[in-house]
Amino acid sequence: MKRAVEILRNIFGYNEFRHNQADIIQTLLDGNDVLALMPTGGGKSLCYQIPAICRYGTGIIISPLIALMQDQVDALKQLGISSAFINSTLDRDSQREIERALLDGELDLLYIAPERLLNEYTLNLLGRCHIALFAIDEAHCVSQWGHDFRPEYQRLSILHERFCDVPRIALTATADVATRSEIKSQLDLHHASTYISSFDRKNIRYQIDEGQNGLHRLWRFLQQEHPHDSGIVYCLSRKKVEKTAEWLTAKGRIALPYHAGLSNSTRQQHHNRFLRDEEVIIVATIAFGMGIDKPDVRFVAHLSLPKSIEAYYQETGRAGRDGLPANTWMNYGLQDVIMLRQMVTSSEAAENYKRVSIHKLEVMLGLCESGQCRRQTLLAYFGEVLNEPCGNCDNCLSPPELWNASEAARMALSCVYRCGQKFGVNYLIKVLRGKHDDRIQHNGHDQQSTFGIGAKDRVSQWRTLFRQLIALGYLEVDHEGFGVLRLTEKCRPLLRNESILELRRQREPDKDSKKRERRLPIEVLDEDRQLYNDLRALRKQLAEIQGVPPYVIFHDTTLAAISQLRPGNVDSLLEVPGIGQHKLDHYGEKVIEVVRAHIMSL
Ligand code: ADP
Ligand code: ZN
Repeated sequence: MKRAVEILRNIFGYNEFRHNQADIIQTLLDGNDVLALMPTGGGKSLCYQIPAICRYGTGIIISPLIALMQDQVDALKQLGISSAFINSTLDRDSQREIERALLDGELDLLYIAPERLLNEYTLNLLGRCHIALFAIDEAHCVSQWGHDFRPEYQRLSILHERFCDVPRIALTATADVATRSEIKSQLDLHHASTYISSFDRKNIRYQIDEGQNGLHRLWRFLQQEHPHDSGIVYCLSRKKVEKTAEWLTAKGRIALPYHAGLSNSTRQQHHNRFLRDEEVIIVATIAFGMGIDKPDVRFVAHLSLPKSIEAYYQETGRAGRDGLPANTWMNYGLQDVIMLRQMVTSSEAAENYKRVSIHKLEVMLGLCESGQCRRQTLLAYFGEVLNEPCGNCDNCLSPPELWNASEAARMALSCVYRCGQKFGVNYLIKVLRGKHDDRIQHNGHDQQSTFGIGAKDRVSQWRTLFRQLIALGYLEVDHEGFGVLRLTEKCRPLLRNESILELRRQREPDKDSKKRERRLPIEVLDEDRQLYNDLRALRKQLAEIQGVPPYVIFHDTTLAAISQLRPGNVDSLLEVPGIGQHKLDHYGEKVIEVVRAHIMSL
């Protein structure tokens, strides 16, 4: 363990272990298996990197994220750790060279895609070299209930059969109790020590916004909180991705689309620009998936509702991996609620799969419509209790107003009933507001008692109410895809005047955000600002020469610390978090030059 601490300090440049890192590393060093659950940005990589360096042989990392392997290897090279990857993007010569290095024991870490690992050729190869450990990253991919299911993951128990004395560690940032036990049984990790860190991402602020005109609301959010930051905007469909990216571009932001319909090279190009340039917004479907390792994503916005809390938590979790303040913002409306329900109920999936999916969607809607602290609700979903409201979500910062919606809800529900439970929202709202329209007259619905009883309220108010009634389970949407609404059992007491219904009033975004100051991700004092900017310029230069993202060289926090400490010589740079020996040797002189030049110029 002494060696592990030395590596943490000298190679990674960090002073202490976080979360359960120390215990996890100890367990692996002792030769035992681990299941590690840690939130995104918690520091999972160190948990296998350090023991892989300490133990004799090469650490084999199994990861489904081929696109990321290059960056991971680049980042390790910056630290002076010898590493490589094997996946389908390699040509034959490079692959041979890596195999040779592996057999000669030159590699500390080797990343392999699961389908590669599982072929007999690779298994044979591994049989001929020394393996320090196996790390199974994104281990929740083993779960067929999850949205990241990878069938090859279910075959990874072969590692235990073939290499029974090599310790294994499975890691994930998303796992409810069910997934956790699935990981254990599928990967044959019954004897593994399980380490669960708190899933709370304190630096992330959660905001869920409701109502129509999502794009304009997004714009307001971006202008107010992230006028220059890089971030991700998620949309449900490819079409919406394209449209949104165009719209943001026309408004003057750098916005790039990303979805499965684009060619591989376009996707790769957009991903690279996102990683390497500043101020780039990626507009994506969830195809822009797991393991977006960019640490300084300052915001994640959703223009539609994710299918489950797991998905929401994972997607929003891509913000602020560097631990600095980050925002998540979601807009959702009636159309999302209806569409997602239909997608689930009308799918061809097996009944029990559908049941699980509907339940997940309901819990997600519950989060949206709730007036409670978002973080408390989210953490509770993962089995964690947060005693006090967090103070860093929309509901904590500006508690929603509640209103007694019983009377309005009764009108809406009666209208559904009197129209024979055969119509969708738009029709029902016309009836409620007393609009004369051919169809309504033809059906004789202008003669029934709810015609026009809601004339004084605006369409948008009725839409909000219908959305809430569906979300809360008072109304169900038909399975056939026409958006027909029907009453559920839950309506009875309300219709009989035996219960009341309190709902949250829709927020006015302008009024809301005026109360709040924009949070800057990093505190740099005015007098340090110039030096900080000079250091960023140096970083950009160094990154461009090597063709790597700037954060691989130094994180913003490291630059901020340098501009505050203003070290006078290379050795004192070791005090700065994030600078280990290798980076000191490579960049120390240049950094000190910039610091000196700044001091001289004062
Ligand atoms: P995860 O894979 O869990 O999302 P990473 O392994 O990418 O997280 O780590 C997130 C960030 O935290 C990285 O920049 C990493 O260098 C940093 N980090 C990890 N462990 C420590 C530590 N003990 N002290 C300081 N920073 C750390
Ligand atoms: Zn809160």
